[in-house]
Amino acid sequence: MNTREIGKNLFQVELETGGFQNLICSYIINSAKITLVESGPTSSVPKLVSGLKELDIQLEDVDYLAITHVHLDHGGGAGALLNFLPNAKILVHPRGMPHLINPEHLWSSAQTVLGFVSEIFGKPEPVPKERIIPLTEGTFDLGDGIKLKAIETLGHASHNLSFHESINNGVFPGDAAGTYFPEFDVVVPTTPNPFHLEAALASLDKIISLKPTALYYSHFGKASNAVQRLKDYKLQLELWAKISEEGVKQNWSLEQIRDKIVAEDKVMSQVEIASFIRSHRIYSKTVLENCIKGFIEYAKQKQAS
Ligand SMILES: [Zn+2]
Repeated sequence: MNTREIGKNLFQVELETGGFQNLICSYIINSAKITLVESGPTSSVPKLVSGLKELDIQLEDVDYLAITHVHLDHGGGAGALLNFLPNAKILVHPRGMPHLINPEHLWSSAQTVLGFVSEIFGKPEPVPKERIIPLTEGTFDLGDGIKLKAIETLGHASHNLSFHESINNGVFPGDAAGTYFPEFDVVVPTTPNPFHLEAALASLDKIISLKPTALYYSHFGKASNAVQRLKDYKLQLELWAKISEEGVKQNWSLEQIRDKIVAEDKVMSQVEIASFIRSHRIYSKTVLENCIKGFIEYAKQKQAS
């Protein structure tokens, strides 16, 4: 079984991308208007389709595919997935829309930034324009008393949406609220370049103002204590930014900045978490390299301005 019931009308699908557990998941809202949140990457679309079958959902009954942003691990599989879902429309930020229609640029930049990880995710297939509903906000009535509200939550990307579902009062933040490690019940930043701290903090305030009780992380799974977790994440981002700004001022290398962050961050300084990230084939690259780079580039730009 890849699917797990995590709330009323709500299921999580373990995508097992590249054979990794607890890395990427999609969600299914099983209401009158059936809605998926996140296609996941191209390579794990078959897992998501078999998840729908596990729940006895007819593929032609899926109405919406909500995508938090078009990075390969979240929306990369949209084109391949739509081949299975003849009636589904995609909800996506307007700045993400051109990359769904023509994914060539997205794919080549992902290859540069992510290296071997992009091959694990797979190349995106194009999405027909007429199947896309671009939006920065809006509420969809999914029936059965469930409303899905889109919220523009920029910072991680210039095209990140979060979605709030009303029946369990939970939020799908995409990558706006960090990466959640269910193994340790902790969050670490997900801040690849270009990262915008002020936008990210404002987005977190927007989510906090909804007073959600749960967060449904694409990486990975449902987390409780949502408001406190979001507040803690704001502090964590501010700490990483402060260290990066100091490091850029002092001309430290990426490694020096990284080591200082690992030493001072409450989560990263825990030995078992640090060694989990260091020995993880994907997180060692994304968290310890790309996310630190995001802060360094942010700090450089701030200094230049
Ligand atoms: Zn992601």
